[in-house]
Amino acid sequence: MNQEHSKQLFKEAQQYIPGGVNSPARAFKAVGGTPPFMVKGEGSKIFDADNNEYIDFVCSWGPLILGHTHPQVVAALKRVTELGTSFGAPTELEITLAKMVCDAVPSIEMVRFVNSGTEATMSALRLARAFTGRDKIIKFDGGYHGHADGLLVKGGSGMATLSIPDSPGVPASYAENTLVAPYNDIKAVEQLFRQHEGNIAAVIIEPVAANMGVVPPQPGFLAGLRQLTERTGALLIFDEVITGFRVAYGGAQALYGINPDLTCLGKIIGGGLPVGAYGGKRQIMEKMAPTGSVYQAGTLSGNPLAMTAGITTLSALGQPGVYEQLEKTARRLEEGIARAAAATGVEVNISRVASLLTIFFTGNAALNYQAVAASDTVRFGRFFWQLLEQGIYWPPSQFEAAFISLAHSEKDIETTVAAISTAFKSLTA
Ligand SMILES: *Cc1c(COP(=O)(O)O)cnc(C)c1O
Repeated sequence: MNQEHSKQLFKEAQQYIPGGVNSPARAFKAVGGTPPFMVKGEGSKIFDADNNEYIDFVCSWGPLILGHTHPQVVAALKRVTELGTSFGAPTELEITLAKMVCDAVPSIEMVRFVNSGTEATMSALRLARAFTGRDKIIKFDGGYHGHADGLLVKGGSGMATLSIPDSPGVPASYAENTLVAPYNDIKAVEQLFRQHEGNIAAVIIEPVAANMGVVPPQPGFLAGLRQLTERTGALLIFDEVITGFRVAYGGAQALYGINPDLTCLGKIIGGGLPVGAYGGKRQIMEKMAPTGSVYQAGTLSGNPLAMTAGITTLSALGQPGVYEQLEKTARRLEEGIARAAAATGVEVNISRVASLLTIFFTGNAALNYQAVAASDTVRFGRFFWQLLEQGIYWPPSQFEAAFISLAHSEKDIETTVAAISTAFKSLTA
């Protein structure tokens, strides 16, 4: 594979941008080598600076569920750009997207738009603390909720990959208020509630964990959290930044039938532009300024471009048969990988919920971070490069989800399965 231009660009980028990237996972630290610099996308494909073509399973880490440069999204963005990119004043577009979100997500009665998932979780936690008058929160080991100070405690995603259990620069007094439990372990959560009785403001969770690779909730786990938080007066916050409009139109809460108090959204609702959102019960959301006294603001929050990309994307996702198609494509991929693994004898655990999929290089069940952390990351790195050289752009870390989009065709999946089969064979050679 020719990487001449990407290599040059990566070298130059590192002179001006720390590590050459604006988000750590892009630097390929977990798999080594030079990340391809991208030039354009089209449907399921992306093209790099050396004219290499890839079938893309990163999809900008989730937002591009319709695929790259979806004609409707591009056309809508062109139209709205000509009218003005931002006013710092309310627009009707914000109402349109807010209504779509409230109609789709069972527990959301009101929603506030921000510019990233990080802002969404940070603001939801501030609101939960203000609403309950308590300071402590519970998160789960391997869960990632953006990079706000108090949440950089045993996070997953880039941090699990880089083995940084905590980040320097986070005051110990912040981290102190963040309690961490193993995912899928309701007993551990009960114990934290006993130890810190009356002090826990909220439990924040990815209802399907996807930032330590895909780890589904065990039956009864989410319901257990719902009961426990209700009983103790803490708020249950679903971080659906990945799962919202992904695992179902109404998110994981619709899929599993659990109503959280607050929900964080991002990624898909921005249709490829920077957006986040948090929403929930009216009685809680009205504590936000200007109706209430909890402060949160944003110069570009709810800007016309982001709202338009979101509205257009959600409209497309609201069409009949969309989630059935995603399921069918993802199942086809899962079954193909399982066949390739069986044929080559490579030990993997294929963990999938809807159009989120991780191939863990371990025999362990995907129960929690500790279980999946046993994966053979060296083997994953070899697998990753085998795929890239065959034109498959898989997430460059063992602890990430591959994202399947509506643009992935049957042929794309066939090509991908053949490439995975070749990669598996080379691992056992
Ligand atoms: C991506 C992600 C975030 C952070 O969103 P950004 O837009 O990157 O700030 C938060 N929570 C989850 C579950 C995510 O996957």
